[in-house]
Amino acid sequence: MKWSFRIFTFAGTEVRIHVTFFLLLLFVASQSFLGGQGLTVALESTLFILTMFTCVVLHEFGHVLAARGYGIRTPDITLLPIGGVARLERMPRKPSQEFVVAICGPLVNVIIAAAIYLGLGINAEFHPGYDFLKSGHFFEKLMVWNVFMVAFNLIPAFPMDGGRVLRALLAMFMEYGKATRLAASLGQGIAMVVAIHMLLTSTFQPMLLLICFFIFMAAGQEAASVTQQEATRNLRVRDAMLTDFHRLPPHARLRDGVELLLAGVQQDFPVLDLHGGMQGMLTRHDLISALADKGPDHPVIDVMRPSPEATQPATDLTLALDALSACDCPALPVIDPISGELVGLLTAENIGETLMVRAALMKARA
Ligand SMILES: [Zn+2]
Repeated sequence: MKWSFRIFTFAGTEVRIHVTFFLLLLFVASQSFLGGQGLTVALESTLFILTMFTCVVLHEFGHVLAARGYGIRTPDITLLPIGGVARLERMPRKPSQEFVVAICGPLVNVIIAAAIYLGLGINAEFHPGYDFLKSGHFFEKLMVWNVFMVAFNLIPAFPMDGGRVLRALLAMFMEYGKATRLAASLGQGIAMVVAIHMLLTSTFQPMLLLICFFIFMAAGQEAASVTQQEATRNLRVRDAMLTDFHRLPPHARLRDGVELLLAGVQQDFPVLDLHGGMQGMLTRHDLISALADKGPDHPVIDVMRPSPEATQPATDLTLALDALSACDCPALPVIDPISGELVGLLTAENIGETLMVRAALMKARA
């Protein structure tokens, strides 16, 4: 994540802190200080904020270590003012594993709260308007904070842990994609109800509204990304590549490109060398602009772009799709690994068509 700094690395996971987090600390310290509560209170509330976020880090490590048990690494955790975000390499697809990974975060807070309760014999008051920044018994506040974290994280909405717990439970009885969409809709519904309630009763809280917005967007994203994964699952590059396409020889002129462009629907043309190896790609955009500048007899080889990194027919389509969007190019060449020959072109349009056909066939079967 941009604008974040590494603080330390533990068990192969980098813990990073976002600059906005320092703004939060500054805000809290200055509020207590300027509120006439004096330096001691300002220091105490700043220290308390730091301890709160230590609990957040421990919570995230609950997820990280549980995921590690299933062989999933977590490159980093970033601390934001609204909480921590652990970037797991992937989420386990097995519902029981996702359930364990999701629940292990809140479980850490249960353990901390229980340890304070049992160890120090503290009894605390719980109410929604609890003010953690008011001076009071440090450990009592810390216990209440951990209980709040459990309650907040178990709200059944993405990207909260509760959303993942819900999806995992649903996925034990239904298809994964359907479970995700159902959990995402419920999360969006909750976010909407809370936001509308706030606006109607004019109990407006900017932070809460921001969280509602965040949940709404994240739930939509989660559902969309699972739907896409679902659509491209078990598909290979060869299932979606263009196989009927024109190539240009190394000595081609721009007029040859124009002829092909006007004759068919192909827009971008691979340029091959004399041995059939991939040399570059002539895009429609480059062809048209060079035509105006240099005329129809100009060599194509002068205008073409270097070939993007090729993919192979047996490559997973999801991976190739990522490569295609990362390369910012109109098409990826598909090269046969044995013959080294160009056997196809992978374009976003063709992938889209493949997915439409697949969806239609699935519907027909259902
Ligand atoms: Zn969590």
